[in-house]
Amino acid sequence: MAVRPTPLRRAARPSVQGRPEGALRFQESRLDPGSVIPDRDGPRDECGVFGIYAPGHDVSRLSYFALYALQHRGQESAGIAAADHGGQIITRRELGLVSQVFGENDLRTLAGDLAIGHVRYSTTGSNAWENSQPVQRSEGTHGSHRELALAHNGNLINAVQLHGELLQRGVTFSSTSDSEIIAALIATHPAERIEDAIADVLPRLRGAFSIVAMTKDRVLAFRDPHGLRPLALGVLEPVGATRPGEGGEEEHAEGSGAQPDGGDRHGDRSRETLASDEHPRFNQHPRLGQRFCVASESCAFDIIGARHLREVHPGELVSIGEDGVQSRQVVDGARKAFCVFEYIYFARPDSRMNDQVLQVARGRMGEILWHEAPVEADLVIAVPDSGNPAARGLARASGIPQDDGFVKNRYVARTFIQPGQELRKHGLRLKFNPLPEVIAGRRLVVVDDSIVRGNTTRQIVQMLRDAGAREVHMRISAPPIKHPCHYGIDMSTREEMIAHGRTTAEVAAELGCDSLHYLSLEGVYEAVRGTRATHCDACFSGEYPLEGTGDASGKYALEEPAGTSLPLVRA
Ligand code: SF4
Repeated sequence: MAVRPTPLRRAARPSVQGRPEGALRFQESRLDPGSVIPDRDGPRDECGVFGIYAPGHDVSRLSYFALYALQHRGQESAGIAAADHGGQIITRRELGLVSQVFGENDLRTLAGDLAIGHVRYSTTGSNAWENSQPVQRSEGTHGSHRELALAHNGNLINAVQLHGELLQRGVTFSSTSDSEIIAALIATHPAERIEDAIADVLPRLRGAFSIVAMTKDRVLAFRDPHGLRPLALGVLEPVGATRPGEGGEEEHAEGSGAQPDGGDRHGDRSRETLASDEHPRFNQHPRLGQRFCVASESCAFDIIGARHLREVHPGELVSIGEDGVQSRQVVDGARKAFCVFEYIYFARPDSRMNDQVLQVARGRMGEILWHEAPVEADLVIAVPDSGNPAARGLARASGIPQDDGFVKNRYVARTFIQPGQELRKHGLRLKFNPLPEVIAGRRLVVVDDSIVRGNTTRQIVQMLRDAGAREVHMRISAPPIKHPCHYGIDMSTREEMIAHGRTTAEVAAELGCDSLHYLSLEGVYEAVRGTRATHCDACFSGEYPLEGTGDASGKYALEEPAGTSLPLVRA
């Protein structure tokens, strides 16, 4: 049966939610999404999330700096929601970078005891203000009232079905993102405790989701049962505390089961016990003043002086409040499928995931890349910045000197001025300027992290040749990308991918390089010290770890095609 969509509300855009109208600082977005020159030409990152419960701390400022550290995960919009313990939730969100969206006054407006934050690249729903996050919903159910804000990283593959179900229940939406669907499911749930509502909703969500949510007195974090996207738990260090490895007595979150190396003191058996307990508490005795936070990546903890404790487990719900941290293993035993591309490209090199510091893992990728495909050459250069760690590893393993072949302009990610026809022909020079003095007459090994369409790589090869390179041997620290991602990464269509339907030799000919080698999948897993059984590598292998992925809806699944009257949702 066809279900008519609820028309999108295209109302004026208040930049702050949750305040009396007269108190709003109304701000129209000055940012035209079309004015963005992408900083990274590879697959587009998804989103970054952060949450903190820390009465007595400047939570909005801590959130701001945490989001600043997570900026690489999304540059289209940024937002923070905050509340005093038991007070009203206030949300400020806007299109743009973190530094463009928030000023001092915004952070003062957002003062409180707990906060969540989000940076977005659109994977479901277009880049409109309505789709920026955190999503805030306020619902009354069965005489009770629930107010929550929610920030999501990932992509649901059953968003259209859930959307249809909610529409039939009379729920209305103000955005086209799958994140509001999750917020609506939780906000309208009749359970009295938010943890019970989430525990009931979580198994119904299919796809990738690492979510941070807040009520007026708790921060909640939960992750899909496959653990596709990252999510980590941290603790704010008391001022003057010594970090592990810096000497002094090592601190552990008392009773938390968490270890500073990201391990779990309880081990699997204890986690089963926790999972079988209806309301398990794994932090019965938090240290006085001990405050916790959650983030997509541990680099967000470093910038605010917090310590990485451990990953939020796949299928786990973590609830943070005045009583410390509570954990509930909502779904256990699902096939783990952590995104292997996080190690290769998405996450920052100083982040730690599954006990791997990514800079080190990427260096190993470069070493293995060399052993898989050595070549006679004079110089190793990286495509900056994402190719840097692997280039260093390759140079280390090969003994070939490494130098900077390009200087990168680090400030081109956003500009309000478009280059115009005359400058456009110089294309990539806006970002990379080759150094002929370094390159000319040399046989180069050029290291990059991935190739999707190949347009950028083709231009890079040409720029190096124009600068006098004698030979250009491309080495890529990822396997060929041949399949789209349905779990939160925007990767173009299969047909647009240069490796789809081509051999490596054919791709090399397309790119105009003398040789090309992609790191093997085995090489990737060797470098990250992991196995295929616990990871997703579908964009390389075509083997999607979640059943029903083929039915996944696209980025604009919830939006009505312009100029048509087609139903939005079919049920
Ligand atoms: S398909 Fe690729 S990018 Fe998407 S989750 Fe799997 S490994 Fe990551």
